[in-house]
Amino acid sequence: MKKMTRLHFGPSGIPHSTEERTTGNGIKRVAAMGLDAMELAFVQTVYLKSADAPAVKQLADSSDVILTAHGQYFINLNAKEPEKLAASRQRILTAARRCHEAGAYSMTFHPAFYLGDASDVVQERVTAEMKKIMAELKDEGNEVWVRPETTGKATQFGDLKELVKLSTQVEGVLPCIDFSHLHARNGGGNNSTEEFRATLTHVEQQLGRMALDNMHIHVSGIAYGPKGEKHHLNLVESDMQYQDLVKVWKEFNLKGCIISESPNQEDDAKLLQELWKKK
Ligand SMILES: [Zn+2]
Repeated sequence: MKKMTRLHFGPSGIPHSTEERTTGNGIKRVAAMGLDAMELAFVQTVYLKSADAPAVKQLADSSDVILTAHGQYFINLNAKEPEKLAASRQRILTAARRCHEAGAYSMTFHPAFYLGDASDVVQERVTAEMKKIMAELKDEGNEVWVRPETTGKATQFGDLKELVKLSTQVEGVLPCIDFSHLHARNGGGNNSTEEFRATLTHVEQQLGRMALDNMHIHVSGIAYGPKGEKHHLNLVESDMQYQDLVKVWKEFNLKGCIISESPNQEDDAKLLQELWKKK
């Protein structure tokens, strides 16, 4: 799988400040801002065509920008209907294949809904589905990390422990840690230095230093209620303790990438990067 040498920062999608909104221009804009990562937003559809992927890869490489992707929202590895399950697997495979063609580092997605099932039941189903997916990708020589993301609502499978456990059981899988989702999911917890440390300590103890050296992290401000996530906010408009969060990233000397999912995308990516670079 792909290995990182430092911590990269970038927006979740083509920066808003890109004049003509193409993937290539987005990469150029990211580089011009001094950022060095960009997430391809495949959330509605895997919009990048195979034919266009090699040029994107070349441009990202020459600009020293790493690419990640966010897979489609319409995925549920706990779907009851076989055709929905097959379609979910296919959506993950399609995104991962396009990532490979575009030279991307990592691809994330929201794995499943509980649909009233117990956590361990869903855990088993998702693990079985991920094993099938990863076996196919391995056969194809695909080295993109495939990452279920920590989710923001109690109805969605994907708390930290579930995803770390899944990662211990399926090769090529690591969690995408969305610190804002963890905060919203638990109704306002997971927002202190101690809790940020506990999250990363759990990852290191279960998955090893390798996981901390190859992170894929999402951050934004977030509005939440008793049911969890409502919507994303810019960091300064939210209660997210992002300065403490960056301090903890420094303590753990993280490598990989930080993707800003704030409405202002590239601005919060820059804010976090500046805090990271400050001694
Ligand atoms: Zn996220």
